Amino acid sequence: MKVYCTSPWIPVEWVCAHGHEPCGVWAAVDELPSATAEGVCPFARALVELASKNHQAAFVFTTACDQSRRAADAVLLQSHTPVFLFNLPATWQTPAAHRLYRAELARLGRFLERLGGFSPSYLELMLVIRRYSEQRAMLLDLIQHSPARQAAEAVMQYFWPDHAKKPASAGKVTAHGVPVALIGGPLLPSQWGIFDVIESAGGRVVLNATEPGERCLVPQLTLSTDNSDLQAVLADHYLDHWVDVFQRPNTRLYDWLAVRIAQRGVRAILLWVNLHCDLWRAEAQTLRNRFGLPVVMLEAHDIPANLNRVTTRLAALIETVRSGSRPADLHQPRKSEPYAVQRTNPGDSP
Ligand code: SF4
Repeated sequence: MKVYCTSPWIPVEWVCAHGHEPCGVWAAVDELPSATAEGVCPFARALVELASKNHQAAFVFTTACDQSRRAADAVLLQSHTPVFLFNLPATWQTPAAHRLYRAELARLGRFLERLGGFSPSYLELMLVIRRYSEQRAMLLDLIQHSPARQAAEAVMQYFWPDHAKKPASAGKVTAHGVPVALIGGPLLPSQWGIFDVIESAGGRVVLNATEPGERCLVPQLTLSTDNSDLQAVLADHYLDHWVDVFQRPNTRLYDWLAVRIAQRGVRAILLWVNLHCDLWRAEAQTLRNRFGLPVVMLEAHDIPANLNRVTTRLAALIETVRSGSRPADLHQPRKSEPYAVQRTNPGDSP
């Protein structure tokens, strides 16, 4: 059975080891609804529509945000699609958080068995964990040497190998363009045009920390013969390494970003947010303060609807970064404008 995972923190290898086909849900959402009820995140709304139409599949939602939680409730109310709501701990530092995540993984396993799956043997689980782990290691290496769009396709295939039969697009990493980081929530294949828009504006994405991007790949998990409880090892590995905005404190997100922003010479940050996604939207100022880089907020619903406008904004940002303008020279958004460009550290000239 197809099991749609709505979060990168549902281990796809766990679903696979139980005899089901894990499907990263991002590849299944063609485009976001143009209109949603007031306060409803379009991505969460799209998941409800997708799940309500797919009675032959199962959906795993998480408690990462209220919108996701409510989406799970809505699907349960309006359809017969099997739904599992996974309690993701917002903290990771305590034994209680580890116990919770391990218990949720076990509960998900029982859910998958009830759907016709099976409980994997030690050997079966070990082989599946190894396979996925090696894929992640290869992917993390490939991302370093691939154009952003090609890397995004490869990561999408990791979360759902069969979603696209066509080979990933070819391309070379170009040394041209101002290096930028794209950070934020769900980035769908129908929105990958944003990579071209950024390039045509004179930038290039050297860090994709959207969902599912590089941020969503936990490091390789090396198993040893001492690992008697593989389920616990898998759970702890995920909980010890996932990087997301809903964690409290979300220092791990900033520490993860800091290393890569420094290593890759990032000179501007593009914050990718969905309508009504308060979690990511709230990070704009903290990103500015922490990294002293200009931050532009990109509204996901503007791609592909308002490509020209987005291109113009980005070109202005790139020009600003190139020229090393002082804060007073930067584009000041009008009240109604969704984009804000600011440099918070006047001494940090690019
Ligand atoms: S985009 Fe934001 S609001 Fe929507 S489901 Fe994801 S985290 Fe929640």
